[in-house]
Amino acid sequence: MEFPADSSTAIITRTSSSSSNNSGILLGKYRLGRLLGRGSFAKVYIAQSLSDGSDLAVKVIDKTKILNTTMEPRVLNEVSVMRRLRHPNIIRIHEVMATKSKIYLVMEYARGGELLSQISRRKRFTEPVARFYFQQLVSALHFCHRIGVAHRDLKPQNLLLDEQGNLKISDFGLSALPEQLKDGLLHTACGTPAYTAPEVVGRKGYDGAKADAWSCGVILFASLAGFLPFDDSNLAVMYRKIHRREFQFPSWFSKPVRWVISRLLDPNPTNRISIEALMEVGWFKKSLQEKDQNQHQIRTLFDLQLTMSPDKRSMNAFDIISLSSGLDLSGLFEAKTKWAKRFTSIIAPADRIADRVSEVGKKLGYTVERRKKSVIGLGKERMGLLIEVLEVQPSLFMVQVRVGDGEGGVDLVELQWRELKVELEDMVLAWHNDGV
Ligand code: ADP
Ligand code: MG
Repeated sequence: MEFPADSSTAIITRTSSSSSNNSGILLGKYRLGRLLGRGSFAKVYIAQSLSDGSDLAVKVIDKTKILNTTMEPRVLNEVSVMRRLRHPNIIRIHEVMATKSKIYLVMEYARGGELLSQISRRKRFTEPVARFYFQQLVSALHFCHRIGVAHRDLKPQNLLLDEQGNLKISDFGLSALPEQLKDGLLHTACGTPAYTAPEVVGRKGYDGAKADAWSCGVILFASLAGFLPFDDSNLAVMYRKIHRREFQFPSWFSKPVRWVISRLLDPNPTNRISIEALMEVGWFKKSLQEKDQNQHQIRTLFDLQLTMSPDKRSMNAFDIISLSSGLDLSGLFEAKTKWAKRFTSIIAPADRIADRVSEVGKKLGYTVERRKKSVIGLGKERMGLLIEVLEVQPSLFMVQVRVGDGEGGVDLVELQWRELKVELEDMVLAWHNDGV
């Protein structure tokens, strides 16, 4: 286990009895635990408050890596400003301490880990899920920009999740770090310019809020695509791509989302859409009214115990939806079939999913037959599909599309499936077999 040892100060004490298990007490108030993560210039540990037993995160910044020590008062000052920032989607900073060689930030612990690992576990987000996090990100930024504070280092590593699945932006206070350091980082292997607005790289003055808007565009793109809009191992090539706005939308990006991303990824900060204007865009506002409901549903998902799990261990929503290949869910449905596609959805209630499937069917020229509240038959030419919606847990639905009556072969089904899948996509939380 790693330990932020600092022999030059008395702030951390290693008691002789605990030295064997490498535990340490910080300031007589916090017990430091395991390493949660490592950044470019800091390490983050889990810690427990000795007074109330609550879990916290402690970020240990190595001052020797901040070359210019005269910057320190500025950093501390800025961080203390950030301590006063209270927003549900921003990691709270509880306490700041400094020793000769280190700065300690005691902050809220985000139990859900990094948003990035959720994206990579699920390959990419569906539009409703991406929008859910994007709305939280943008509303937190809006709140900070209004009082004149920009983040300037937005990237998925700084987007964390709490145990309820809400987004928490971290590292706000660190936007005060000296430019030289940031610039230095951008050109090292640790840092990446992939999320950084073009005007930030290599220039002194820039509008921090507009730079954040750029990063939002990259984050939205990456969460929907599963890869970055600008990516090249050669930095010069990457910068050129960024300046020329050279990126391509994957085929599954909807028209409104393409528009939003194009407006955010405008290399000219003056023309780039502001966070404020973004909040007025229809795509952004969509389902914002239902946000509380969505939030509730996602929360419920996080609390779920997956009863169908082979080892009955407790799992969160993302565990459930990443089970795609590992678990045979076909047993949940009555009929066995050779060809079936399954996805989970959190659109409640079940008949609302069925209604939307019916609409999609009509739109694509199928004859639609509603068999039960949550079973729909779709027929076209020689082929029939049967769609069943099943409530697996409160607010979690499994939808199965399988070959129904009709004599069309699997080839014909695959062909029809392609166009059907595109239309169903916005109800999908995750695909559970080769639907992707
Ligand atoms: P960076 O943001 O450059 O990745 P940081 O030093 O900020 O580096 O943090 C390193 C990692 O530690 C983060 O990516 C994250 O996984 C984890 N981490 C940081 N802050 C917290 C926190 N408040 N709660 C939980 N994990 C955290
Ligand atoms: Mg960070």
